[in-house]
Amino acid sequence: MECTLDKNKKMCNCSYPCSKKGKCCDCLAYHRSNGELPACYFNATYERTYDRSIENYLRMIGKR
Ligand code: SF4
Repeated sequence: MECTLDKNKKMCNCSYPCSKKGKCCDCLAYHRSNGELPACYFNATYERTYDRSIENYLRMIGKR
């Protein structure tokens, strides 16, 4: 399977300077291991807080 790193980077909304940008497999594994979600779950306002917690996601969608 071909790596889609360049394509992923173009779609990635994460504004944090991070070596995992575009490496969705590593990004997801990292945040999942911390009980979090990756940047692409968040809108621009919430993404900029760098708070990737599930709590923050639930606040964003109005469930908390
Ligand atoms: S969501 Fe997290 S792991 Fe993924 S690129 Fe952004 S800071 Fe890095």
